[in-house]
Amino acid sequence: MADSKKFYLPTEVRFGRGSVECLGTLVNPKQKVFLVTDPGVEKAGLTGRVQVILEEAGAAVTVFNQVEPNPSAVSVEQTLNALKETGAAMVVAVGGGSALDLSKVVSALATNPGKLEEYQWNGRKFEHEPLPFMAIPTTAGTGSEVTRVAVIVDRNTKKGVGSDRLFPRVAMVDPEMTAGLPRGLTAATGMDALSHAVEAYVSLGANLFTDSWALTAAKLIGRSLLRACVAGDDLDAREEMALASTLAGVAMDQAGLGIVHSMAGPICSYYHLPHGLACAILLPYGVSYNLTASPERMAMLASALGCETKGLTALEAGRDAVAAVYRLVRETGLSLDLSTFGIKESDADLVAEETTKMFLIKDNPRRPSVAECRAVFLAALHGEEPQYCTF
Ligand code: NAD
Repeated sequence: MADSKKFYLPTEVRFGRGSVECLGTLVNPKQKVFLVTDPGVEKAGLTGRVQVILEEAGAAVTVFNQVEPNPSAVSVEQTLNALKETGAAMVVAVGGGSALDLSKVVSALATNPGKLEEYQWNGRKFEHEPLPFMAIPTTAGTGSEVTRVAVIVDRNTKKGVGSDRLFPRVAMVDPEMTAGLPRGLTAATGMDALSHAVEAYVSLGANLFTDSWALTAAKLIGRSLLRACVAGDDLDAREEMALASTLAGVAMDQAGLGIVHSMAGPICSYYHLPHGLACAILLPYGVSYNLTASPERMAMLASALGCETKGLTALEAGRDAVAAVYRLVRETGLSLDLSTFGIKESDADLVAEETTKMFLIKDNPRRPSVAECRAVFLAALHGEEPQYCTF
């Protein structure tokens, strides 16, 4: 286990129904604010609600609604230019992980010299404080509101830009902002949050703090994800999912991730699958692959997910965790196989190679070979029910 004392979260988190209203207390009258969002979030009326809060507090708001899913380096440049033109002194993002990540990066580039690629690829550090950045997530999935990373697509790959300076200044995690999220997005983003909790819990970087955040998140998701999918306006379920997503985000930011996210990276880059969906499809196989490396931890996850584990060995209980994750994906109505999305067996070598080279793989409890990654990929391609570690 890594240093159990290490824990760092500079973001102030305001959580709960209506917490978005506190945004009005965080701006100064006449302050110029750059409000970053995407067309879907705007259409859902969420951008308008935030704009009203800001304007009632006296801020001068410019809305930038061009965020694309899985934002690219080109998009960062365009957004940065738009931000600079406004002369805004604060950035507010309302949206999913895409809006939040894009905003993190442009807030930092607005006050630091040079181009994104120097920070993303060449290890340059952000030396100056970014513009103050306020994050309002509208999905319960990525946890980006409490992480120091932004994921940006460049050179045909999804690559994180990481810095302690990228933590949002304030995160307003308001379950009301997720109430209109359609079922498919609720399911995929919710499974993204579960994959953060599970991977952080079995990560080599896990510690006593992250364990407690990750297990609580898994428990909340196990009991609320289906309810949020079936009845989107069930605010109790939305609240538990919003909390779980933030807890899992903190856990993975501090503890690291593993094979599921390492494989989701190339799959999303090459085949343009939404991030949460790729994680959902891969998660049962990732859990299965890691079972023998951490049976006791998988047993704890089984119990967090509501399985009765009394009288079972750790390995038996861990197998129940694999089955519970697989069942949850199926019950949300998400696809269980990658082949549905045109991904082919002939892609196995490419994805397996890339997976072993991903930065995140270093924290996986088993260090997979290319052949093992290939086996995990093929199982996910066909959506077979994972028995238990057959890899
Ligand atoms: P997203 O931000 O790409 O949004 C997906 C879709 O959901 C969009 O069409 C959007 O309009 C719609 N949407 C969002 N909220 C809505 C709402 N309340 N009502 C109706 N529609 C809504 O999706 P995401 O899964 O939240 O974010 C994915 C991105 O986050 C990926 O680029 C991924 O790599 C990144 N990510 C970042 C971190 C991090 O720590 N920085 C962690 C995980 C994932």
